[in-house]
Amino acid sequence: MKKTGCAMLLAVLFLCLLFACGGETPAAAPSPSPEPTKEAAIPTEESIDVAPTPASATALPTVPTLPPELITPEPTPEPTPLPVTDPVITLVGGEELTVTADFTFTDPGCSANDWRQNDLTDRVRVSGEVVSYLVGTYDLTYTVTDDDGRTTKAVRRVSVVPAEFPEIVMPPEKTVYLTFDDGPCGNTATLLDVLKKYDAKATFFVVGNKKRTDMIKRAYEEGHSIGVHTYTHVYKSLYKNEQAFFEDFLKTQEVIREATGSYTRIFRFPGGSANTASRVNKGIMTRLTKIMEDMGYRYFDWNVTGGDSGSGATTESIKKRVISGLKTHTDFAIVLQHDIHMNSVRAVESILKWGTEHGYTFRALDLTSPYVHSNVQN
Ligand SMILES: [Zn+2]
Repeated sequence: MKKTGCAMLLAVLFLCLLFACGGETPAAAPSPSPEPTKEAAIPTEESIDVAPTPASATALPTVPTLPPELITPEPTPEPTPLPVTDPVITLVGGEELTVTADFTFTDPGCSANDWRQNDLTDRVRVSGEVVSYLVGTYDLTYTVTDDDGRTTKAVRRVSVVPAEFPEIVMPPEKTVYLTFDDGPCGNTATLLDVLKKYDAKATFFVVGNKKRTDMIKRAYEEGHSIGVHTYTHVYKSLYKNEQAFFEDFLKTQEVIREATGSYTRIFRFPGGSANTASRVNKGIMTRLTKIMEDMGYRYFDWNVTGGDSGSGATTESIKKRVISGLKTHTDFAIVLQHDIHMNSVRAVESILKWGTEHGYTFRALDLTSPYVHSNVQN
């Protein structure tokens, strides 16, 4: 009886304990868990906060965080203020510029900006002038004003210097430079044939408005020199002033370039440098002879003439006059003739024949050739 009572008491205790532990029996089959969704698998901040931190020995110590109102934000650095300065002008090519004398001068320009780095280049005003063809020193002043009324000036000094010529090379043998002015024209073809026959070279100082680029081209391709004479050959207009002369000269240069593909550096003044036709503008020949050489163009006068422009000139008189001149200029002779006069063209073969027999060489002029300059008479 006592044994049975104890056993019943133990059984009751066991059941009570079992019930207190959740009523699960070891034999109970685990209920299948639903497949965890992806979303559910990622713990949210909330779930992390809510979950009790197990007070186990492996838990990391929590770092106390300050409430937001007590956190001092990092100070944003103040932008460095730009220094307020006058506008700045930068001269392209620098403050000192050296250029060779020429028909025109091109200002290489400048750039300008204010202290805010705004581009003020379009506001720059330039005062002063460079006379591009006159050797000398010139100042150009660049001025710019910003929106606040600050003004800056910059000065550029431009030095116009004379061109340099190559050294003159004296030909080693007796040399004749035949030159023909005022063409080319129909006669020029005959002349070129004769020159070719004697393997002689010559120089043609051409008139631009004749527009005989075909003849200029042929002469050039056959090894003769081409020089500027004039475009119009009208003394009164081309010697009116420097600009008029330049315009006439440059128009002829264009005709030559069209015919030969390049400009020339040699020329002959209409009437020669000692002409008196230019007295429409007193002193212009003194000025032009210097200016043109400063710009690198060599002019050639002559020391022998065929006298072929005179009304009484004949082929025989021209031939005699030229040969007589060659006899007195045995170092070198620059002979003036005109291919617009057929009498003069006809005299050329006799001159070539005589010269060849007497040891002369017939050459074309270039910048290294010896030259003749007459005394200017204005
Ligand atoms: Zn002429």
